[in-house]
Amino acid sequence: MHEMSIAQNLIDVLRDEMTKHRVKTLRSVRLDIGQMSAIVPDALSFCFQVITDGTELEGVKLIMDVVPLMGYCQACDKEFKIKDYTFLCPTCGGTKIDTIGGQGMSVVEMDAE
Ligand SMILES: [Zn+2]
Repeated sequence: MHEMSIAQNLIDVLRDEMTKHRVKTLRSVRLDIGQMSAIVPDALSFCFQVITDGTELEGVKLIMDVVPLMGYCQACDKEFKIKDYTFLCPTCGGTKIDTIGGQGMSVVEMDAE
């Protein structure tokens, strides 16, 4: 279950942020989970609970939004949502597509007390 190491990374990030902003208690954290990241929100939530049990982060709620994979067409300079893993520009039919977003995980917002 790779969510365990992802949860651990997330906790490291949260602790850094809490120290930086002198926050003692967090209520919730909003995360963007990339559609292509292979992170299962329920599994991540479960791992997070297990690791934070009995720590200062116990009870912090994870709010997760799954964000779609976006493509950028080099030919016509347009961004679009990639559907069904089709790396084809819907505007010009170009195939030189860079992917943006939809991968990995990022902390969007932290709700502190
Ligand atoms: Zn295009």
